[in-house]
Amino acid sequence: MGAQQVREGFEALFGAAPDGVWAAPGRVNLIGEYTDFNEGFVMPLALPHTAVAAVSRRDDGVLRIHSADIEGPVVELHVDELAPLTNTSWAAYPAGVVWVLREAGHAVTGADIHLASTVPTGAGLSSSAALEVVTALALNDLFDLGLSGPELARVSQRAENDFVGVPCGIMDQTASACSTEGHALHLDCRDLSIRQVPFDLPAHGLRLLVVDTRVKHALGDGEYAERREGCEEGARLLGVPFLRDVRYEDLEASLARLSDERVRRYVRHVVSDDHRVDEVIALLDAGDVRGIGPILTAGHASLRDDLRISCPELDLVVATANEAGALGARMTGGGFGGSAIVLVESADADTITKAVEEAFAAAGFTAPRVFPAVPSEGARRLS
Ligand code: ADP
Ligand code: MG
Repeated sequence: MGAQQVREGFEALFGAAPDGVWAAPGRVNLIGEYTDFNEGFVMPLALPHTAVAAVSRRDDGVLRIHSADIEGPVVELHVDELAPLTNTSWAAYPAGVVWVLREAGHAVTGADIHLASTVPTGAGLSSSAALEVVTALALNDLFDLGLSGPELARVSQRAENDFVGVPCGIMDQTASACSTEGHALHLDCRDLSIRQVPFDLPAHGLRLLVVDTRVKHALGDGEYAERREGCEEGARLLGVPFLRDVRYEDLEASLARLSDERVRRYVRHVVSDDHRVDEVIALLDAGDVRGIGPILTAGHASLRDDLRISCPELDLVVATANEAGALGARMTGGGFGGSAIVLVESADADTITKAVEEAFAAAGFTAPRVFPAVPSEGARRLS
């Protein structure tokens, strides 16, 4: 939905024009999965799909939130009464941002918010981060908070961690807040330093496809927390603060010191995926975009066999796409459903898409949704 439609929706709901309209994108992660909470490296890129919010500031403590995508009335809250983990509806994401800003001492005194999003929800494409970041950016502008992109990402992550109650890392919000068009974002999750890495696929005759399997992930079922705990256990057993601190050169020796088979698998995944981020960066810097294909596929095998967060639908996308001539493919995001990415020659995009669709039909799976991941701009003001 475009800025104009969201603006009109706001006016119809609240009876006045909004102070402004802002957008924040969803993302796919190119490489570096489950590495962010290990203080390692990730490399997401922003999608053209965005959450768009029309917002006006208020000075009377009232917070009114509405989504064009959700049946139901305007959610009306009071900024003084926001309390973490009490609001289980979708409105907790934007409300959480208000709560975090106020906890940090910012005088955010209320707002009217009407939003709509083209980011598919629960597809591993970070529709939740888009919602948080668009709210944070709008409030940053309307209340003159002066926060930077990385700071807005931090605020948004805290909203999701502490207010909504989802223990996510910093990747999704940073991708949404800080990405630039035509680039992937290399993020060091320790010092939060960012490098924009040129990722101009059309110039190389390539396309990155997103395949949304339509299988809804449910990270609330404790799988994410279990992986996280296993990684922390690995770091503790190896005597390092985080798995980021295990050097790739020392991986085999480190694994030999671990007797727990589960912890060994998790350590191998995290340390090797951090290394795969380095490999991808080196190839992109050298202009060898095709060269990253096998690394994506190796990353998938690691997520499937070592971290064990894939599912039959994601595995089928990767196997089918590669058999049909893709350069490489992997699941992306939290796993247990959601989306995969597939790197293809532009000329092969249709054939490979068809092969995946046919394989899904033959397996009796719900038809997947396939679209190109065009590296897009991060959060911005539209009007
Ligand atoms: P993901 O971030 O991978 O899409 P999450 O489970 O983290 O999946 O976030 C999805 C949730 O975010 C939805 O269940 C809903 O609560 C909220 N959400 C996302 N987009 C919208 C929207 N357009 N309107 C209202 N709520 C939304
Ligand atoms: Mg999310």
